[in-house]
Amino acid sequence: MQHQIPGAWRRTAAGAGLLRPDGSVGSTIFAEMSALAASTGAINLGQGFPDEDGPAEVLEAAREAIARGENQYPPGIGILDLREAISEHQRRFYGLEIDPATQVVVTAGATEALAAALLALIDSPDDEVVVFEPYYDSYAACVALSGARLRTVPLRWPDFQPDPDELATVVNDRTRVILVNNPHNPTGAVFDHAVLEEIVRLAHAHDAVILTDEVYEHLSFGAPHTPVATLPGAWERTLTVSSGGKTFRTTGWKTGWITGPAELVAAVNTVKQYLTFTSGSPFQPAIAVGLRLPDAFFTGLADELRRKSDILGDGLRAAGLAVSPPRGSYFTLADAASLGATDADDFCRGALAEAGVVGVPITAFVTPERRADYATFIRFAACKRVEVLGEAAARLASLAR
Ligand code: PMP
Ligand code: GLN
Repeated sequence: MQHQIPGAWRRTAAGAGLLRPDGSVGSTIFAEMSALAASTGAINLGQGFPDEDGPAEVLEAAREAIARGENQYPPGIGILDLREAISEHQRRFYGLEIDPATQVVVTAGATEALAAALLALIDSPDDEVVVFEPYYDSYAACVALSGARLRTVPLRWPDFQPDPDELATVVNDRTRVILVNNPHNPTGAVFDHAVLEEIVRLAHAHDAVILTDEVYEHLSFGAPHTPVATLPGAWERTLTVSSGGKTFRTTGWKTGWITGPAELVAAVNTVKQYLTFTSGSPFQPAIAVGLRLPDAFFTGLADELRRKSDILGDGLRAAGLAVSPPRGSYFTLADAASLGATDADDFCRGALAEAGVVGVPITAFVTPERRADYATFIRFAACKRVEVLGEAAARLASLAR
């Protein structure tokens, strides 16, 4: 669906590269692809959401909270039980000490945490936000809303690790925020330790804040996840964002959080209180239950998704696509150039029509200037049942014939 859009959002959309040549803006790529999948009955490997429920204890805790009458506004910064559970989680997995009173705010998903942080940190149109490209789609839109300039560091096939020298040329004294996403959507990359160290070094050298989106923190396939905030010298200038959506298969609950030094978290909350004020009262105690589940639950998550990513990867390769093996996240990137495609958008529409499988063209995650560099890449979500992935692979195989 196309809409003509009014006023300030038109400028924002233009700044984020979201405006079409005719002045219209469509829905997000995820909404568009999910609607196409639903209307055609295709298998949806586009939007990243699981097709199975998460842990029964977590679901039951939300039902109990509703029954107990926890249905009115919770405190703006989130209920104490959840803030304590987040603090315990950060200590248990990463050795980080978070004061539940001042160093954490619960948000309406990671999305609100990111938006509030960018709006809070940007002071002037000369401020710059550095992101790694391709990037999760809300980053460019929120940077544009904040009024800052978007600067990007490209991630390249096949391993999508940033080049530290390139990063050093982009970060400068106008850089207000370095926005990191690790494990990375849409590429499935997990940044090397040396890259994280370079990000911290540059943030110090140019007095920038690190805003790190770690929603896939429990979906790192190799070594355990390393939060940027645990690196020497990082904590004092790092805001860490996460969410219960991926970890507990509750993407529709939109319960996220942001942690960091009290002054930075207070600045974020100043904005957050006028965005949503608060959200999800019965979901907050339920996510607290989830965060306190035993270690085995969390390690099992990564193992399961790695197995699913392997099945998806094998299927994509059997269909003739080149595959970049993911090191984390829900996603696997494929290159349709190996099947003679020159445009992933066309390929995805063809795959939908001919094979009944939906993927997302990576051009939805890049600036207009870099579209050509990513023209043939497609993101597929592996967070689906094994039989669904198997059926998708079988259908895609028909494209190679
Ligand atoms: N950041 C990244 C990298 C994501 O992939 C997503 C959604 N999948 C989000 C943020 C949004 O998280 P939430 O649904 O908790 O707002
Ligand atoms: N984060 C999910 C993805 O990358 C989608 C979220 C959305 O629909 N905005 O697929």
